[in-house]
Amino acid sequence: MIFRPRPEKLELVLLRYLNTRMVFSSSEALNFSNLEKGYKGELKSDVWLRGLTEEWLILNELLLEYNGSKFQIDTMIIAYELIYLLDIKYFEGDYAITDNKWYNPAGVLLKNPLHQLERCETLLKKLLHEIGYDLRIESYLIFNNSEFHLNTTSINPSIIFPTQLNRFLKKLNTRPVKLTKKYFQLAEQLNARHIVESPYKRLPPYTYEQLKKGISCPHDQTFFTDETLICTKCGCVEAAESAVLRSVKEFTLLFPDRMITVNAIHDWCGGLKSKKAIRRVLSKYFVLISKARASHYINS
Ligand SMILES: [Zn+2]
Repeated sequence: MIFRPRPEKLELVLLRYLNTRMVFSSSEALNFSNLEKGYKGELKSDVWLRGLTEEWLILNELLLEYNGSKFQIDTMIIAYELIYLLDIKYFEGDYAITDNKWYNPAGVLLKNPLHQLERCETLLKKLLHEIGYDLRIESYLIFNNSEFHLNTTSINPSIIFPTQLNRFLKKLNTRPVKLTKKYFQLAEQLNARHIVESPYKRLPPYTYEQLKKGISCPHDQTFFTDETLICTKCGCVEAAESAVLRSVKEFTLLFPDRMITVNAIHDWCGGLKSKKAIRRVLSKYFVLISKARASHYINS
């Protein structure tokens, strides 16, 4: 069973908003694209793991710490006397290992993913020991993009290729041992230890003034050109209410310190909808805080 579902990645949500409204530098664009790909791979892996029997505890996306060192776990599966650690890689194209060094399709040297996995395993083992669990850990690099290939002369059992995914799952399903309370308690403890990090400091720098104002199509990020909210690219039509609500969500996530006012949202939407229409939506979904000259809305 899924004990800890994969949370929506706030960093990615914010980057998508920003990407629509500003121009990223090449390194910012690369980072954004890598995050998108990584997340796609994780979601694909979550679908794959639905093939597991119920006798397992799955915890997704944990950021833990041992002795001042933080480590990130994509997926952890708690089984009887054993923990599986899965690091999901959605790499695409021909990668290579030469002299124990990893290269991407462009020939650029990568951080060795096996070393990162070992580090994660070591820290987890120490953390588990500290909280009273001495369980065996098996770690795997899961490559789940069917367009991935690795040129290597050595065989490493920790690497699971796209063509091995089904068999790997079958192997796991051959050990269906019912988990006792102790394992649920462990899952609870690890979940409680998850560290929440603010994504804001990792975002490209941005200011309100610099960002493009307007309302963009929810499907392809094309900006609507007039108040009919018909997308010139995909032809979809969005209701005013949903468009304004989406805009408010974007505004508050990108600028958590700014107040939600009719004027602020009108400006953020590029004047596309009238102040009257915006006031109607805000009054319906938010609570008006009236202070002489500074009326604003808060989440109800
Ligand atoms: Zn569209």
